[in-house]
Amino acid sequence: GATKETLGFQTEVKQLLQLMIHSLYSNKEIFLRELISNASDACDKLRFEALANADIYGDDADLKIRVSFDKAARTLTISDNGIGLSRDEAVEHLGTIAKSGTREFFSALTGDQAKDAHLIGQFGVGFYSSFIIADRVTVVSRRAGLAADQAVRWESAGEGDFTIEPAERAGRGTDVILHLRDGEDEYLSGWKIRSIIRKYSDHITLPILMKKEQWDAEKSEQVTTDEDETVNQASALWARPKSEISDEQYTEFYKHVAHDFEDPLAHVHARVEGKQEYTQLLYIPARAPFDLWDRNARHGVKLYVKRVFIMDDAEQLMPLYLRFVRGIVDSNDLPLNVSREILQESKDIEAIRGGCVKKVLGLLEGLADSDDAAEKEKYAKFWKEFGRVLKEGVGEDFANKERIAKLLRFASTHADTADETVSLADYVSRMKEGQEKIYYVTAETFTAAKNSPHLEIFRKKGIEVLLLSDRVDEWVTGSLTEFEGKQLQSVAKGGVDLGALEDEAEKEEVAKAADEYKELLDKIKGALGDKVKDVRVTLRLTDSPSCLVSDEHDVGGNLSRILKAAGQ
Ligand code: ADP
Ligand code: MG
Repeated sequence: GATKETLGFQTEVKQLLQLMIHSLYSNKEIFLRELISNASDACDKLRFEALANADIYGDDADLKIRVSFDKAARTLTISDNGIGLSRDEAVEHLGTIAKSGTREFFSALTGDQAKDAHLIGQFGVGFYSSFIIADRVTVVSRRAGLAADQAVRWESAGEGDFTIEPAERAGRGTDVILHLRDGEDEYLSGWKIRSIIRKYSDHITLPILMKKEQWDAEKSEQVTTDEDETVNQASALWARPKSEISDEQYTEFYKHVAHDFEDPLAHVHARVEGKQEYTQLLYIPARAPFDLWDRNARHGVKLYVKRVFIMDDAEQLMPLYLRFVRGIVDSNDLPLNVSREILQESKDIEAIRGGCVKKVLGLLEGLADSDDAAEKEKYAKFWKEFGRVLKEGVGEDFANKERIAKLLRFASTHADTADETVSLADYVSRMKEGQEKIYYVTAETFTAAKNSPHLEIFRKKGIEVLLLSDRVDEWVTGSLTEFEGKQLQSVAKGGVDLGALEDEAEKEEVAKAADEYKELLDKIKGALGDKVKDVRVTLRLTDSPSCLVSDEHDVGGNLSRILKAAGQ
């Protein structure tokens, strides 16, 4: 439309604004980090579009971010010459929350602001954090490729609705103008703004410009000059030597690439030289995102070529089972005009991906095997958040199956709790004299696994059994048939052959009972007819009168339930 329109925010936006203002007040300066992060993303998006259409740069090819303030108007403005927003994009991106899982997140809130406030960190903040310090936000934006008079002005007081109207803007890009709340005048200080940028946004690869200031003796205050200066280092963080990067810088860079509000759990930064030259800076988040189970969700590793951003979510860089990894890969060898199609076929990318997988597995092994309790604790945390995803790797990544198997953690009858803390190596170290196999039971829930009648004989003999109750465990045990030469064996399949663990007296007892109860067994077989293959006397039960067993090579009971539920 050609006139000003008032539109309502999506319900979730209203809730988010409420929560955010409440929960982030003590850390409000992060709004600037979020807005600079968006400006940087907008420039990355422009570069990506320019791969297919170089004309899009026009005569404005030096991408940059500018931060300025106006003391008289009490405004702080963050500008970029990135991709910009069309009218429809402004309505969609600034009026709704596009993240999947948003609805579920908000329906999980309790309504108690204090309690809910800490949840906001899990969600990420972004553009709306402007309202922590601003009581009105104006966005003037012109989408790359659109004319000067086809710009858009978006404005809101962050209270349920926003207005949108046509505008003019000389060049492509976006201005976000914050009208500061009463009492927020500290953000009108060049010194303060510079210190926030250096603290949170130093890693941004584009220059962040501000006007130089100088002392005005007459006015007895700092005044801005017309000269620009770059406030950040404006060089790719990952290209700097490790020794020159602080923990804080690694953390802030993570928050930018991952769009996360929380600190990461761990990172690995490495330069690879040789046939392929590339740098990788990869992170494990501390918490699973809402769309972890959506296999189409973003993958989160960005691809750069010689420090130039190429694309987001380069899914060829990370296998699905490591889809929680965030970060960047910067290649020295790929062509700058590389496309997704080229990546799919590229042998170079295959080698880079192989290298990235090895680094991530190495990082996880470092945590898991560490002698440092804090690092080990990190692995436990990792496993809680992402263990179920990592398990997929056993079936997905044949080359690294052994390494992944070592990283797996299970519940078992050893502690008999649902905590998944037992590694296969732990299990093997506790195997009984004469025990040849690694025993496990799968069931729909932990309680069902723990109470399975199949466990009775194992409990009696003190043999540990892994208690598996994740759906993915069926695929794990389907792909992982042995570990360190020990076969994995379901206790619910075939005749439990306890081998050397069985004593002769017991074997004789079974044979005797089979004879003695032959008539009864035949009767039961007759009554059940086609429903069963066989009815046998067994040693495996101590308390229960009977149980169902699958044939060694048949689909197990739990898997057949899962397949049925999936309609197969
Ligand atoms: P996120 O950055 O995680 O996507 P934000 O809340 O920070 O979430 O931003 C929401 C969306 O608004 C962005 O995804 C982008 O589409 C749009 N946006 C915000 N700032 C800009 C900008 N400076 N230029 C272009 N688009 C922007
Ligand atoms: Mg953002």
